[in-house]
Amino acid sequence: METSSHPVCARCPRVLGTSCCEVREDEKLATLTLADVERIARHAARSAEIFCEDEWLSELEAQRYEARRPLYEGYFRHQPRRLTLRRKDGACVFLDRARGCTLGPEVRPTACRLYPLELWPDGVWSLQVERHGSVEAARTAPGSCLAVEEASELEPLANALGMTRAQVEALGEQLREEVKRHARDTAPGAGRTDGRRGGGRRSGTSY
Ligand code: SF4
Ligand code: SF4
Repeated sequence: METSSHPVCARCPRVLGTSCCEVREDEKLATLTLADVERIARHAARSAEIFCEDEWLSELEAQRYEARRPLYEGYFRHQPRRLTLRRKDGACVFLDRARGCTLGPEVRPTACRLYPLELWPDGVWSLQVERHGSVEAARTAPGSCLAVEEASELEPLANALGMTRAQVEALGEQLREEVKRHARDTAPGAGRTDGRRGGGRRSGTSY
């Protein structure tokens, strides 16, 4: 979702008519860690409640989420609550449809910086399939991701998104560390919230 930083992402909305920062009602935006929330709140000088919302999962859904995504191991250790970006008019609140993401690349959620890549349980980097259900569908679904349409292998795909494979892996390690911290900071008694009023309250939708 490096929408405004890389040529392919700048072309994507024009060519496909949409981008990964726009979502249908049944689609989800990136999962946030408390590190993302704090970084964005600091740099964008916005209260977390303006851009962050909860989604409550069942215990089973939370287990499945982590099992499918090794970088998120421990995210739901203390509560099955997913933090995600708030949406407005079918898109992330940070999307400017003419200019792309209004957050600087270093400020964006780490998951956005990795999109559409994800580390799979077998240790292989592949495509995120949450929106499409399978790698094949993520590759071939019309309008899914212009970078994926134009680059079929990991290295050229990473390059199209302005990264090397090593940078993708480093970003993955950053996410792993942020998730570990998220798990520590959401432990009972840790005294940390996402900065929102009622941040620990069960209030979102489930899926
Ligand atoms: S934070 Fe930026 S890159 Fe991530 S979904 Fe929102 S607009 Fe897109
Ligand atoms: S090319 Fe892919 S990663 Fe870039 S904006 Fe489009 S859907 Fe998002």
